[in-house]
Parts: sequence; C-alpha cells; structure tokens
Amino acid sequence: MNGCPILEINLDKITENTKAVVDLCGNHNIDVLGVTKGFSADPRIVEAIIAGNINGLADARMENIVELRNKNFCQHTTLLRIPRLSNVDNVVKYADASVNSELTVIRALSKAAIQMGKVHDIILMVDLGDLREGIMQENVLETVLQVNKLSGVSIVGLGTNMGCFGGVLPSVENLKMLIELKGIAESYAGVRLRVLSGGGTSTLLLVENRSVPAGINQLRIGEGILLGTDTTNNRKISWLHHDAFRLRAEVIEVKEKPSVPIGEIGKDAFGNTPHFADKGIRKRAILALGKQDVYIEGIYPKDRNCTILGASSDHTIVDITERDAIIKVGDKMEFGLTYSGLLSSSASRYIIKKYRRGE
Ligand SMILES: *Cc1c(COP(=O)(O)O)cnc(C)c1O
Repeated sequence: MNGCPILEINLDKITENTKAVVDLCGNHNIDVLGVTKGFSADPRIVEAIIAGNINGLADARMENIVELRNKNFCQHTTLLRIPRLSNVDNVVKYADASVNSELTVIRALSKAAIQMGKVHDIILMVDLGDLREGIMQENVLETVLQVNKLSGVSIVGLGTNMGCFGGVLPSVENLKMLIELKGIAESYAGVRLRVLSGGGTSTLLLVENRSVPAGINQLRIGEGILLGTDTTNNRKISWLHHDAFRLRAEVIEVKEKPSVPIGEIGKDAFGNTPHFADKGIRKRAILALGKQDVYIEGIYPKDRNCTILGASSDHTIVDITERDAIIKVGDKMEFGLTYSGLLSSSASRYIIKKYRRGE
C-alpha cells in the first residue's frame, strides 16, 4: 500500500558485517552461528548472512526454523530457546541441535529422536550468573552423566548466555568456568564435548581484545551482524556498518503547538500519566507510524536535531523545531533502529520491507 512505513534493508552491508565477524572469530578458532530471530528469519536476509560464510544458523523460534526448512535452507541449524516439551517432535524433525537445561525435555527429545531414527544434538546451557536459562554449575556433571545414558540425543557441548536477563557481561572468569566445567565433564563422564558456546554479540569484545579464553569455539551472533551494535557493553562496534536497516515513515501533519497539553491530564492511551516540560511553542510533525507498527523506544531519528516526543498506537510525534531542512506533509522521515526496534518492525505486517544492495 502507498505510504506504508518502509523498513529498508541493505543486504550487502549485512553480508559485509557477517564476513567481518566471521573473519575475526575465525582467527581465534571460533565458529559463528548467524542468529536469525532479530528479523523473523526473512529468507533474503538469511541469504545475506549465509553469503558472509557463517558456520550455521540459529533461531529462538521453531516457527522460524520450520519456515527456513520449507524454503530449502539446509544449513546446520540450532534452536536457541529451550524446546517446549509439547513441541519436541518438531524440534527433532527440523533442528539439528538445541540448547537445553531440563532433563525432562531432553528425555522427550531422546524418545522423539529414537522414533524418527535420528540423533539430535544437545548443547547443555550452564548458568554462569545472568540467571536466564541454564543449569547451575554444581549440576553440570550429573546432568551430563544422565544425558549421556540416553540414545537419540548426543551431548555435543556446553553453552552459556549472558547479558540478557541479569545484564551480566561475559568475562574471562565466567568463560573460563565454562572451560573448566567441560574438563570436569569430559574426565568424569567420559564424553567429548566439542562445542563451547560462549554467548552472543556481547562476547565479541573479548574476541577483539584477544582475551577470550582458548577453548571457547562458538558464538551465536545476531545484533552485531545486523546493527553493528553491542547493547550489553553499550557500544557501537567501530568496524561494522550501523545502518544496514532504516525505517521510513510519512509525515501526515506539521504544526506549531504548545509543548504542554491544555486541560486536565488523565491517563494516556496506554494507561500512563504523561508529564511534559514547558518548552514553549514547538514545531511538530506527526507520522503515520505507531506502537502497533514498531516498538517506538527502539527507533531514533536519523536527524539528530529531531526528537521523538511520544507515540500512540497509530501516530508518532516528532519535535522538528531544531531541524535545518523543512519538513512538509507527505515527506518521509528516517529512523535508525535498536535491536528491539528491529525485532518489532521486522515482525510487523504493517511495515513493508525493501531490499537494497550497494551503498
Ligand atoms: C538471541 C540469542 C542470541 C543472539 O544474541 P545477540 O546479542 O543478538 O548476538 C544468542 N544466544 C541466545 C541463546 C539467544 O537467544
């Protein structure tokens, strides 16, 4: 439809980012899984990532993995969220490996795999302090021993996740702990754990600094290759593109209005009580874009002289007073995206995707 918000995607920049990350990690004997959940596993973008020579694909949602298989992507694929007990058949059928922390689920995967005559790979997640998923360190050996007894599943490694719930940063210390646990499991359980999966984009900083402990040999990277940012460490990654994605929306009103609403203040459309600073009369643009399209806190105007004042389900209001160039009704405004902005806009059915190559 004419004038819909557009998510413009530069496929070449995504490929270049991927190559840069794969090269850096490759120099340290680390495989890179390209994480596709940030863009709902859009096949065009998946192709761009594959062109960057990743060692496998990974997604947190089985729905995305099934879709990839149906589109004939045959790369090694890891499920990044603990499988639902109710969905183990699909996990075995469509994914090569999954991250796990519950013996009940691993037993169900084993049963399903035996029935299908397959072997499903298990990465056992260990909680090293971020307190999202993973077994506690003291239970690693016992769990490895239990999983090793099962047929249909093969425990191939240990993994950990950081910077998600607790915001805990990956460090030399916590990654060394993973290596130590692998050593213990290998000596006492007689298994070989060939994968040590040391986190996502937030671990790249350690790789850059050459401080990632030897033995960590897999990272699962989404944000870095897509946006060139590392939110957990609060940084832009200088050697990556930051503008592979941009969002464009059309201006539907431009007016000068007071900065403080007139009348008694109740709740806004989302039940919050709004507060406003009085900055006098301001020039404001309203965009045909709202919370139903994108997580507004996850986008920022490309023109740093503009600020988003707020949004409701279908409208976003931008202060354009300080902007140099004139904005008229019918013009488009451009926004950059954070990870949450990317997640929401790529999943929105109201936003049209346009693909570009080159600069
Ligand atoms: C989403 C996810 C990743 C990717 O994280 P980025 O910060 O986007 O690189 C890695 N591992 C797990 C388990 C995830 O769920």
